[in-house]
Amino acid sequence: MDPKPAPHHESPVLGNPDLPPEGEINTSGDPAALAMTGPQNPALANLFPSQLHAPPTDVSTQAFFWSSFNISPRRVQAGGWAREVTQPDFAISDEIAGVNMYLDAGAIRELHWHQTAEWALMTRGGCRITTLSRTGLPSVEDVYAGDLWFFPPGLPHSLQGLGPEGAEFVLAFDDGAQSESNTLLLTDWFSHTPPDVLAKNFGVAQEVFRDIPLHNLWIFPGEVPGELEKDQLAAGVQWGDDQPVIFRLAQSAPIHENSGGSIRIADSTNFPASTTVAAALVTVEPGSMRELHWHPNADEWQYYLKGSARMTVFNTGPHANTMDFTAGDVGVVKRNYGHYIENTGDEQLIFLETFRSNRYEEVSLANWLAHLPPQLVSAHLNIPAETLATFPRTTQGIVPLRTPS
Ligand code: MN
Ligand code: MN
Repeated sequence: MDPKPAPHHESPVLGNPDLPPEGEINTSGDPAALAMTGPQNPALANLFPSQLHAPPTDVSTQAFFWSSFNISPRRVQAGGWAREVTQPDFAISDEIAGVNMYLDAGAIRELHWHQTAEWALMTRGGCRITTLSRTGLPSVEDVYAGDLWFFPPGLPHSLQGLGPEGAEFVLAFDDGAQSESNTLLLTDWFSHTPPDVLAKNFGVAQEVFRDIPLHNLWIFPGEVPGELEKDQLAAGVQWGDDQPVIFRLAQSAPIHENSGGSIRIADSTNFPASTTVAAALVTVEPGSMRELHWHPNADEWQYYLKGSARMTVFNTGPHANTMDFTAGDVGVVKRNYGHYIENTGDEQLIFLETFRSNRYEEVSLANWLAHLPPQLVSAHLNIPAETLATFPRTTQGIVPLRTPS
């Protein structure tokens, strides 16, 4: 049987809006159009069904907004490892650079500082952190899975894994160009300062510095630190004198919670130290969805912690592209671009949203449409006011899976 002639001038219909018609759905009369005879990478193809078989509502194209720590080289040393996704590798990500790091029990990320602020979420185990405030006051704290820290630019700090499982965390630097490899390290400065200057500075003999390391340590094994309060006293911590540098996000009250999931926020309103990074920790149950929304004040940098997801990003043009994400992946949505995130798996979806801003801000599509004269919305969408009245009336955050009644 001869294939039917390709439909060139079909009218756009619901769910297939493009002219000229774009998408697999428009090839029904021309199955040969779908042939892919060139080289394939099946492992990658299976990971990204929405790229190979995009929904007909997609209209290409826009800058890549997917990356993953799993495609990043892992720098490993005795004591732990780190891998990063920075703007040179992920062009769209110019506001935030991400690092995923692990320190085994006792291992130390050496004393250092850098040009950008460092925001972090603990994802596994425990970590002892030290830092100094702008006014010179020390902090020594222990953080665990679900806790955050924030170090302003230029302020020195260290990280050390606690027992028994060490510490895994994700860092968000407030500049896409910041790399874990361009930090200022204590050992580098010592080994590159004339010994007589070191002696003069610390008021001791040059011989004191005979055994300093001549190459930096970056990450190195160490003893699991003892009691927290003892370290705090030894460092001269004066409680209550300064803003806390940590925040227990996972223990905070959610701003949205329903049967579909929850959203917890950390920004300068509840975590005053965090002046340049705001964040949301989002849990979405199977079949439920992070609602259609956008962020007016900053790009969203996402880190997928658990489960699998599908996100479509809506851009001017129009352009709309759908992408699949799994645990370990990173996504970016530029400010003001519309998006939703659907849990496509059988387990909970957990992901992190970070923003280079002091405030978390979101515009919910449903909340906006519910706060307009209904006739105005009807005039745009041809949906009667009575039906619009059944739409959600507020920002839900998460849209729960509706079981068919
Ligand atoms: Mn750092
Ligand atoms: Mn968002």
